[in-house]
Amino acid sequence: MTDLLEEVLQFMPADAVSEAAFEGANIVLYTKSKRFLKNYADAVRKAVHAVKKRIEVRPDPSIQLSKAEAQQTIMKLLPEETGVAQILFEEKRSVVIIEADKPGLVIGKNGELLDRIKQEALWSPVVKRNPPLRSELIEKIRSVLYENSDERRKFLNETGQRVYSGYKRKKDHEWVRITYLGSGRQVGRSSILLQTPESRILFDCGLDVSRSDEEAYPYLDAPEFRLEELDAIVVSHAHLDHTGFLPYLYKFGYRGPVYCTLPTRDIMTLLQLDTIKIMRAEGKEPLYTSDDIKQQLLRCITLDYEEVTDITPDVRITFQNSGHMIGAAMVHVHIGNGLHNILYTADIKYTDTYLLSKAKTKFPRAETVLLEGTYGGADNAMPPMKEQNKAFAEIITKTISRGGKLLVPVLGSGRGQEILAHIHEMVLEGLIPENIPVYVDGMVWDITAIHTAYPEFFNARMRKKIFQEGQNPFLQDYIINVGSHKERQEIIDSNKPCIILATSGMLVGGASVEYLKGLAEQKKNSLAFSSYLGPGSYGRRIRDGEREIMFQKQGGGQEPLYINLEVHTIEITGHADRTELMNFIKNLQPRPRKILINHGEVSRCLDLASSLYKKYRIETLAPRNLEALRLR
Ligand SMILES: [Zn+2]
Repeated sequence: MTDLLEEVLQFMPADAVSEAAFEGANIVLYTKSKRFLKNYADAVRKAVHAVKKRIEVRPDPSIQLSKAEAQQTIMKLLPEETGVAQILFEEKRSVVIIEADKPGLVIGKNGELLDRIKQEALWSPVVKRNPPLRSELIEKIRSVLYENSDERRKFLNETGQRVYSGYKRKKDHEWVRITYLGSGRQVGRSSILLQTPESRILFDCGLDVSRSDEEAYPYLDAPEFRLEELDAIVVSHAHLDHTGFLPYLYKFGYRGPVYCTLPTRDIMTLLQLDTIKIMRAEGKEPLYTSDDIKQQLLRCITLDYEEVTDITPDVRITFQNSGHMIGAAMVHVHIGNGLHNILYTADIKYTDTYLLSKAKTKFPRAETVLLEGTYGGADNAMPPMKEQNKAFAEIITKTISRGGKLLVPVLGSGRGQEILAHIHEMVLEGLIPENIPVYVDGMVWDITAIHTAYPEFFNARMRKKIFQEGQNPFLQDYIINVGSHKERQEIIDSNKPCIILATSGMLVGGASVEYLKGLAEQKKNSLAFSSYLGPGSYGRRIRDGEREIMFQKQGGGQEPLYINLEVHTIEITGHADRTELMNFIKNLQPRPRKILINHGEVSRCLDLASSLYKKYRIETLAPRNLEALRLR
C-alpha cells in the first residue's frame, strides 16, 4: 500500500476499512461496517484536511443488498417527481447510478437522500441526468462503463498508484519542455507533448480534417515521443482536430488515462465513431476500430471545471471554461511544486454566447501561455456579436419570406447548438414564425441530445432559462431530426421554406454536401457558412467566389454544380477573433512571461505574435511543428 493510503487509514477507526483504493487521484475506502457508514464524516474530514485529497467511503461489495432489493429500497426513498428513468449498478465499485429527470431532487437537501440510499441500500449512489432528448450514444457509453466495472476499478487504482507512489524516472535536474507534434502554424492535428523530469503528457491528439494524406496526422514519429513512455493524455475539447487521432494510440497499445470533461468524453466518442463510418463510406481503411474507441472510453477520467487533479507525481491540472463549445476546457498545468505553470488555452471564445460564458482569465500563476491563433490576423477582427446575430436573423427572415431554404453547414458541435439557441430566441421574439421547420441532420441531432444531458455547462442565463423558465432551446416542436438519405431528398424536393443544419461545416463530405447539391441551383435558397473553412475545401472555394464546382459523379466522371443560391458568411464562430484574443491577453492575470501561438495559419500566427509583443512587450513565438522548446 502506498504511504498516502496508510496515512489516510490512520484517521479511521481500527477495522472500519476493509479496503483502500485509488480512483484516479481520488481515494475510496470500502467498509463492511454499517455503523461506520453512518458516522464516518468526522474521520474523513480530518483525513482530507491532512492529505488534501478527495476521499469517498463506500459499502464493501460483500455487504451490498442484492440489485433487486437495492432497486426497491431506492425507489421507496425517492419521491416520484424525481422522475427516475433508470437504475444501473457498477458492482465492483459498489456504485449505483440513478438516472433521473430531476437530479437535484434525488440529491436532496445537503445530499440527505444520497446518504440514506448509501446507508439503507448499501450501494454508493451517483446521480446522472436523464437527457430529455434520448441519446443512444449516452446510453451506450454508460452501459459500456457499467459492464466493465471490474476492469475500470483496476485501471483507476493503477492510475492513482502511479500518481502517488512517487517518482519512477531519474531526476537529475529540473526542466520543462514542450514539443509541437501538430497545430504549429496550422489549424488542425492539435497535439503537444509536455516533458518534465518525471512526466510525459500529451495535450490533444487531433486530425487535420481537411487533408487525407500523411499530413493529416500529428508527428507521432518525433524523436521525443515514445508511446510506451506516455503517462497521460489531456483533451481540451471534443472537436476532431483535437481528438480525431486519439483512438489510434489505443490501437497501438497505449493503456493510460485520458482526462477530459463529461461532455467532451461523449461528443468525442460520437465524432470518432463517425470518423470510422465516413472513412468506410469513402472506401478507405478506417484509422482505428470501435474497439479502440472502447478501450479509450474505459480509460477516460472525467473532471469538472475548477477541479484540481494530480495526474502524475509532478503534474497537476485544472480545467477552466474556455467558452468554445460545451465542456471545452483551457488546461492549467502546474508542474513540480511551482517549478513552472502553463496555460494551454486550446480553442477559446472571449465573448459570452447564447450558451456559454467567455473564457476565464484569472489564474494563480501562468508563466507560459499556449494561445490559439485561428483568427489571429490583423484583418480577423469581426463585427460585434450583436451585429452578427442581427445579420444572421436577416438572412433567415429574407430567405423564408421568399419561400427559400437556408442551409447552414455546421461543425456538428458547438456552432450548431448556438444557432438553435439563437433561432429559439428569434421565435420567442416573434421574428420568425413558429411553424418554420428547423431540420437538424444526423450528427448535429445526436450532439444536440448530448447538450440536453449537461445543462450545468451552460452560462447562468441559459441555465435560468432552462431550469426556471422551462424554455429549453433544444426541446422545441419545430426542431426535426433527419437521419436518412430519403428524408433529406424529401426536404430538398418540398416547396416549403425551412432551415437546415448539417455537417460538415466546410462542405467536405457529409449531409451538408448532399443538401448543397439539391439546393445550390435555385436562387431563392441561401447558404450561410458558420465555421472555419479550410484552404481547398468546397466551403472555402464557394465563399471565395467559385460558382461552378466539379463533383465526382456516381459511377465515375465529373459533373458541374452551379452555385446560384445566395452565399453568406456569418462571422460568428466559437473562436475568439483578433480583438478578443488581444483582450484575453490584456485581461489575463497574472501577465505571462511567454506566449506561444499555435492553431492558426502561418500569417495569422506570426501577425498575432508580433502584435502581442508590440503591445504588451511579452515574449511571443509561433513554433513550427516538430519544434521543441525548453520553457525552464
Ligand atoms: Zn475546436
